Amino acid sequence: MIVALVVVAAVVVLVVVGAVAWREHRHFVDAEESRRRDDELHRRHGDEVAESEARLRLSLDAITQGVVMADAEGNVLYLNSYARQFTEARHGEALVEAAVAELLAEAAQGGVAEREVELFGPPRRCLFVSAMPLKLEGRNYGSVALIDDITEPQRLDAMRRDFVANISHELRTPMGALSLLAETLATETDPEVASRLAMRVQAEAIRLSDIMDDLLELSRIESDEASERAPVAIQHVISDALSRARPTAEEKDVPIETALPALDLMVQADRRQLTSAVFNLLENAVKYSEATCPVRVMTRLEGDWVEVEVRDQGYGIPLRHQERIFERFYQVDQSRERTDGGVGLGLAIVRHVATNHGGEIRVESTEGEGSTFTLAVPIGAQS
Ligand code: ADP
Repeated sequence: MIVALVVVAAVVVLVVVGAVAWREHRHFVDAEESRRRDDELHRRHGDEVAESEARLRLSLDAITQGVVMADAEGNVLYLNSYARQFTEARHGEALVEAAVAELLAEAAQGGVAEREVELFGPPRRCLFVSAMPLKLEGRNYGSVALIDDITEPQRLDAMRRDFVANISHELRTPMGALSLLAETLATETDPEVASRLAMRVQAEAIRLSDIMDDLLELSRIESDEASERAPVAIQHVISDALSRARPTAEEKDVPIETALPALDLMVQADRRQLTSAVFNLLENAVKYSEATCPVRVMTRLEGDWVEVEVRDQGYGIPLRHQERIFERFYQVDQSRERTDGGVGLGLAIVRHVATNHGGEIRVESTEGEGSTFTLAVPIGAQS
């Protein structure tokens, strides 16, 4: 009996101890499980933070604007790759780094600060640096500076202003002449003088209309970059351009000779544009030659390119001007060109046509001996 009681008691004790141990074990397992889950969550959270930070850094490195972030004390914490070029600074670029530091310090005081920094290069560059505080719901997160390269927008703006100024100037001269001539004509009683004045009125009116034609042609060609291309026989282009240039050539007694191959040379092109380019080259060759000095136009195939060459034995172009003659309104000798009626748009038109066709325009010239202009265009896909 006693033995049975002892056995029962032992079993009870074992069960109780077992249950307690089991509960302890469960607690331990649960705690372990929850720690593991917390660790996992932390790890995942950490991965996500690292991932979005990498994404942010890569995005900031991809933009063509400098970004520099600083803490509330103005200490630089981050630079994107565009901004880094100014910290590995040589020469002038150090100016940008200095401007960034100063503007960040100003922004740390709570205001927006900005400045243009000019680097004299070469190449000359102009940068716009601005800085502002980073604040959210009253909390100060430091400041950020942005660096923009404004060289190109500034260049375009200057070009636009020059263009408008040049047009106004070019138009004002014949307009002024017209008004003066009309005034004199109104009171002129001598029919012979009146007729001379009327002829000058006509000449100025033609000059005005030539300027307008050149302007319209240039603007049309500039906006016509992707115009329809069709197979064009270069011989046709030359003969169209010749019939436009011949009247002036005959008037000036400048003979035009041609050397065209027997076979048609075909190019994928805009016929009107090509004709305009060749006409401008011919017109210049005639305009800048003395009477009886011949102008020669020839075409040839060079690999996959068709070349049109216009050669004259005229005044020639000094070497220092040869780079610039393709700019709008550029003229080598303003006094001579004015009497010849040019405005400096012809070669700008030619260059534009060449670029529109994936081609190029070259010049070789010797002062006093003459010039050779070569317009080269790829033949393009033949159909
Ligand atoms: P323009 O209307 O003055 O002829 P262009 O753009 O056609 O303008 O030419 C620019 C300048 O280049 C001319 O003013 C002239 O000084 C020079 N030029 C162009 N073609 C010739 C040439 N064949 N011979 C000499 N000078 C030329």
